[in-house]
Amino acid sequence: MWACQSTSVATAALWPTWQKRWGYESRHHFLGRSGAGRGRSDGRNEIMPRWRAFEPYFWSLVKKSSTGCWLWRGGTFGNGYGRVHFRGRRRPAHRVAWQLAHGRITPKLLCCHRCDNKLCVRPTHLFLGSQKDNMQDWTQKGFNRLVNDRTLWRTGDHHWTCQPAARLWRQKQSHKLRAQLRSGLRIVLRGANGRLLGTRMI
Ligand SMILES: [Zn+2]
Repeated sequence: MWACQSTSVATAALWPTWQKRWGYESRHHFLGRSGAGRGRSDGRNEIMPRWRAFEPYFWSLVKKSSTGCWLWRGGTFGNGYGRVHFRGRRRPAHRVAWQLAHGRITPKLLCCHRCDNKLCVRPTHLFLGSQKDNMQDWTQKGFNRLVNDRTLWRTGDHHWTCQPAARLWRQKQSHKLRAQLRSGLRIVLRGANGRLLGTRMI
């Protein structure tokens, strides 16, 4: 197994103390040996800082739009957020953008958008919040539902009922239902105290 040689890097003392372990997010993850076509050609392993190349690469994938949002033009996750390979993992691009601007994010914290644009990676449009903050943010932004974890799961942006085709289908169903009620083909069933039990064709 190749042992990491980066302990001899002169700037080691400058690194923040949180980068102690050799696992993910330690400085060893930023350092790689020179590969084919870069670094020395004499076969000696050279420590090569990868982080210098990353930021220009990252921002080269960003397009500044006229609305003020900086849109991610690279790959995306299935949920619509930008995706970028960073520190050995595929990570949400807006989260990486925040980290490039401000430093590490505590894993429990979410990186949220002020502009509600999933592809936006402009650091000034991003803020950190807990899951609770994020849900309160949702309710303030007009998602006027009783919000809890389960609601979030059932009604989130990616739930099938929130997809345009499914939404149209539901609207069509409800229009049909109302038409049937209006025409008397369908009646409303009510239980004791007028409790709504449902509807039924007659
Ligand atoms: Zn934005």
